[in-house]
Amino acid sequence: MKIISSISRLRREIDLLKRDGKRVGFVPTMGALHEGHLSLIRRARKDNDVVVVSIFVNPTQFGPGEDFSRYPRNFKRDRALCRAEGVDIIFYPSTEEMYPQPYRTFVEIRELDRHLCGRSRPGHFKGVCSVVAKLFNIVSPDIAYFGQKDIQQAIIIKQMIKDLNFPIKMKIMPIIREKDGLAMSSRNAYLSEKERREATVLYRSLCLARDMIRKGERRPGRIIKEMQGLIAGTSGRVDYIEIVDIESLAPIKRLKEQDKIVVALAVWFGKARLIDNIIVTVR
Ligand code: AMP
Repeated sequence: MKIISSISRLRREIDLLKRDGKRVGFVPTMGALHEGHLSLIRRARKDNDVVVVSIFVNPTQFGPGEDFSRYPRNFKRDRALCRAEGVDIIFYPSTEEMYPQPYRTFVEIRELDRHLCGRSRPGHFKGVCSVVAKLFNIVSPDIAYFGQKDIQQAIIIKQMIKDLNFPIKMKIMPIIREKDGLAMSSRNAYLSEKERREATVLYRSLCLARDMIRKGERRPGRIIKEMQGLIAGTSGRVDYIEIVDIESLAPIKRLKEQDKIVVALAVWFGKARLIDNIIVTVR
């Protein structure tokens, strides 16, 4: 396994591999790897000749006062996990390598960032699109792997790939959860024991929404109210709960048969802002 921090060196390596006709799979991450990341890596390993994992805590996707400086970082552990999964290359650039000063070019997406996390984190998806576009240009993968955990991010990147003509296929992989349902996240490390126990309410509230829809409830307002009620029994503070169309990410006024919708939420537990979602087909 090679660990490469230099963009020009990574490009040389990838050029050689591509000249040999190798298919390159790419998993972009911010490190602090867990089973969620590993599921993407395993799928990339299965589908491709070469697997590249990037580890980069991207400063441009964090707002002022957000957790950039305290975001968990553990390169040694990440390196061991990647090695055990048969990763070929870890791309591990510094901030200076990715954003040499003066840095002036960003990628902005329209409409799809108006709801969900885009509303509570202004500029977040501009940072995400910019860094992912840069990583795509640097790594030139055949297939890139993203998690449904960050569903708005996945849908936005899919649109960016299409709009900017990246010759890259994208795969969106299911959410990996702890045994008690909590979606795995590097930010779960911020939770106290009590918050960790309470945080199971997120998945429970999503399952409640799914059950209400299955039983015929068609009013998003009613569903969201029940979810809020469940979360109100904990120390969680709701940032948003929304029921949106899976393509436009716009909130739905009334559910219709065959609609494919996303129930998505962001809730604060102490210092941790946790997100989760579930995709439901209305029938
Ligand atoms: P991050 O390091 O948080 O930026 O995540 C890197 C990639 O892993 C993103 O595509 C995430 O959606 C994905 N990911 C994070 N957590 C999970 C999870 N619990 N299950 C599946 N994929 C995940």
